[in-house]
Amino acid sequence: MAKKAAAAKSREIAVEGIFGPGGLLAQRHPGYEFRPSQLAMAKIAEEAFQKHQHVVIEAGTGTGKTLAYLIPAIRSGRRVVVSTATKSLQEQLFQKDIPFLEKHFAPRLKAALMKGRSNFLCRQKVHQMNGQLIFKGIEEIDWFAQIRDWEKLTATGDRSELTFLPDDAELWNRIDARSDLCTGQKCTEFQHCFITAMHQRAHEADLIIVNHHLFFADLAIRKDDFGSILPEYSAVVFDEAHEIEDVASDYFGRQLSSYRVEELGRDTEHMLRLLEIDSAPLRREIVRLRERARSFFDCFPGPEGRHRFDRAERNVFLEQNREPYDGLVSILQRVESELAALRPKPEEVTAMARRAAELRRELVFLIESEEKSYVYWYERRGRGLFLVATPIDVSQILREQLFDRFDTVILTSATLAVGGRFDYLKQRLGVLPSQENVLPQEFNYPSQALLYLPSGLPDVRHPSFAACAAEEIARLLEISEGRAFVLSTSTAQMKELFERVRDRVHFPLLRQGTAPRSVLLERFRQTPHAVLFATASFWQGVDVPGAQLSCVIIDRLPFAVPSDPIVAARMRALEEDGRNAFAEYQIPEAVLALKQGFGRLIRSKTDRGVLSILDSRIQRMQYGKIFLESLPEYATTRDIREVARFMEHQAR
Ligand code: SF4
Repeated sequence: MAKKAAAAKSREIAVEGIFGPGGLLAQRHPGYEFRPSQLAMAKIAEEAFQKHQHVVIEAGTGTGKTLAYLIPAIRSGRRVVVSTATKSLQEQLFQKDIPFLEKHFAPRLKAALMKGRSNFLCRQKVHQMNGQLIFKGIEEIDWFAQIRDWEKLTATGDRSELTFLPDDAELWNRIDARSDLCTGQKCTEFQHCFITAMHQRAHEADLIIVNHHLFFADLAIRKDDFGSILPEYSAVVFDEAHEIEDVASDYFGRQLSSYRVEELGRDTEHMLRLLEIDSAPLRREIVRLRERARSFFDCFPGPEGRHRFDRAERNVFLEQNREPYDGLVSILQRVESELAALRPKPEEVTAMARRAAELRRELVFLIESEEKSYVYWYERRGRGLFLVATPIDVSQILREQLFDRFDTVILTSATLAVGGRFDYLKQRLGVLPSQENVLPQEFNYPSQALLYLPSGLPDVRHPSFAACAAEEIARLLEISEGRAFVLSTSTAQMKELFERVRDRVHFPLLRQGTAPRSVLLERFRQTPHAVLFATASFWQGVDVPGAQLSCVIIDRLPFAVPSDPIVAARMRALEEDGRNAFAEYQIPEAVLALKQGFGRLIRSKTDRGVLSILDSRIQRMQYGKIFLESLPEYATTRDIREVARFMEHQAR
């Protein structure tokens, strides 16, 4: 009641009084400037919380979206979950925006940050490993000693505090708090466990900050009535909402990888050592598990990448590989039985037996299931093999599990609308919003950005395209003096363009795949006149404000490839429904991807730069209009001399 009363009192100040000129934000926020779209968004969010509505808001970069939903969320007096696309966005919100709100608006605000279990340390595992000779090399011994000391001091147990530990340190996998080996309330450390503490903070919080992965992991568990990760809540805000179809598809799908089977063997052996259980039969079965897993996963043909594995392909696979498949199913069964037969049987052993059973069930489903609502595929990636079943359409699942279950869901992002409409988003997610808004841009795009559409380039499918495109890229880079992203729709095309351009220009060139993403980005930021060649993963969430990034060149319209099993299945489903899959799926997907890619350039009111798309279809084809109408109002030219003039003007 007290919380509701406080919220009602805080609402006495109208939203204008906070976001408007001379309002509370103007008085308290050091970087405040009046942004009409921010005020408009805050009003929509406030109304959604009060009237219990679903709303969709496209708000461009620079709107100040975060405060526009956080302040109404706090004023609502309800428990709100805010879901962001990545852990780094989550942390930014928690470390920057929440402290600001606590200081100036809501001193009693209770906010909690929640991440997946593997981000946290398991105290029990650390205590069990202490004093044991199970480390791989001096480096691991040193890291473990530091982690042991840190465990006594840290309030959160969050791995992000361990700045010395490399991202790929295998040691972390053996001491993190993932649920596989967790014995829950039976654990002697349960009361002091970092996961318990995170859940307690969340239970007491008004605002819970999660990422889409954790949100949908929770939603998928709730669906099966296996409990939940998040406490009860009544409203959700999705920031970067354009990503939720993909993430939801992962969590409502099924998956088994060769790594998970390997981990079962490794973790079982590790557990036996820690618990000092000596079971020769179980150790023998683990050796067999490894052999059989290898023979089974080696049966999958094809190069790296995704491969279709529908009913017909699976039937052929089974005819040819029945023996290795049955062998893996039966060894998983035997590992489970051996674990179940161990005496004494501590809780860890029961948990491991459950894990073996789950892997077996997953394997049988992925190879034998007849359920038609999934698309079945496999992917060879590095030395891993992933067997996957993805729901073809998540709209019905989301409608039932999310939009019908919670009465307030706010979806926002800079890229949700196609041609100014939300039809595509509504159809893909199954949401029926009470309000949908494309808010005016806060940037002055006509003067800040020039869209260059070169004339005379051949069609992207013509053999001479790469050579001509490389020439055009080199010309543009000379004008922009490097400082550019060249974004390709495929790795092969990226490599080809890189090779063709490298001898023509004298700027430092970077290429995706030669170093981790974060390292490449840092190099790009630090190296004057650098040019980065990259593919789709750089189209999202990359922020390089200022003149260091002055040009973004995109080689082709980013149509999803119809050979991809998920894309193919989704297109087929639409066609079977009598609809036009190209118009209703491929074009809108590509429009949103292009908006994302171009969105890298203008990140502040002082950024300026040139965007170029080398794909002549945007000019020639009827559908090109939809792309152009969906982009912000850039100044547009087909004349490279205008590009030079624009850049000269920038240099002055
Ligand atoms: S409750 Fe689970 S995660 Fe927490 S310390 Fe115990 S075993 Fe580890």
